Amino acid sequence: MQTTPHIQGWCPGAWQPMASGDGLVVRVRPPLGRLGVAQARRLARLALVHGNGVLELSSRANVQLRGIAPGRHGAVLGALASMGLLDADAGRERRRNLVIDPLCRPPEGVQALGLVLQQALDAAQDLDGLPAKFGWSIEGAPGRLAGVSADIRLQRDAGGWLVRPHGRDQALQARDGNEAVALGLGLARWFAGRSAQRRALGLRPGRMAAMARELQAPPGAAWVAAQPEAPCEGPAPGAVPGLGWLVAAPLGRLPALTLLRLLRALPGRAGLRVTPWRMLLLEGDGDGRPAWWGAAGLDDDWAWITGAQDPRLRVSACTGAPGCSQALGPTQDLALELADHVPEGDHLHVTGCAKGCARQAPATVVLRAERDAGGQAVYGLVHQGRAGDAALQQRTAAALRDNPGLLFSKE
Ligand code: SF4
Repeated sequence: MQTTPHIQGWCPGAWQPMASGDGLVVRVRPPLGRLGVAQARRLARLALVHGNGVLELSSRANVQLRGIAPGRHGAVLGALASMGLLDADAGRERRRNLVIDPLCRPPEGVQALGLVLQQALDAAQDLDGLPAKFGWSIEGAPGRLAGVSADIRLQRDAGGWLVRPHGRDQALQARDGNEAVALGLGLARWFAGRSAQRRALGLRPGRMAAMARELQAPPGAAWVAAQPEAPCEGPAPGAVPGLGWLVAAPLGRLPALTLLRLLRALPGRAGLRVTPWRMLLLEGDGDGRPAWWGAAGLDDDWAWITGAQDPRLRVSACTGAPGCSQALGPTQDLALELADHVPEGDHLHVTGCAKGCARQAPATVVLRAERDAGGQAVYGLVHQGRAGDAALQQRTAAALRDNPGLLFSKE
């Protein structure tokens, strides 16, 4: 028996945290997707002093603190403001829902365009009517952020920039960054207008993907063909020559003490790029293993995933019980216990309910916590689907642990 989860329709922010089973969830959007060492150190201390001591890396390249007592929220906001990680108000924070390509290189102009877009969104109060989850991405090459949700993608190409609404295999061609931002804002304004019309009729605001076909090219612009968006799990951990090292935290959960150890060892000028793949890019030359690798704790296989073959890259899990008040069962320990049994190329997602917060894309197998007809806690098995899809079987946690190989058996 599957119960219907409550869909909030918005994501937590710093100004507007979300109440959960273990306190408030406060999501921090690092400007242009980057944290300096001092900012990261203070975030880790915030998690220790006010939260549950763990930082979570989200699929929108944000850093999440959880377990914040409501009475501590004001102190957390004050600290975020003092470290340059807080927008001026909730509206600005909501509009700045922007994923920056963490693998961008300076000649691609991604960071420069991100700054222009960030400033434009900061001023664009007429976009307050957009759905709360409306988001943007900026990519140094088409497809680099495939699999990351975005309503409007700005993608570098040989002719300048492609401005691409989600749900359409076409894009508007812009000659430079300013034109790309202007075209993107035009699409967003059109969509905000459509959302307002739908709300006036008592409907949900809708998603860009469902309406993109109705979009008209503005005067002077034309649609060009764009590659279909293919699902993608993102890059593997490892060295990225000229940029640094991608390192993952198991299930995107990074203990604050683990991060502090890393930060103590990082060279002073290095920064952290927060990725949408639940990894950090440690800035550097990406040439071999740096001398500070061991001192940073990156040899600790429990805390970090640094190899492309690590089976924990094949599993994902939401917060689950007891941290999430909607969860019908625990998720994270089960996902990690089963990781060794997930074949290469497959993916296991464990979710505490049908909402599927931690993964929108389909997975080879989804285990969804639910109740059976007798009210017993079980996991529904979905094959090749999403968290909300119909489950063909149910198994108890004990049965899953006893016969983990059966989950991916082809018979
Ligand atoms: S998917 Fe997980 S985190 Fe999201 S509401 Fe359900 S139980 Fe909570």
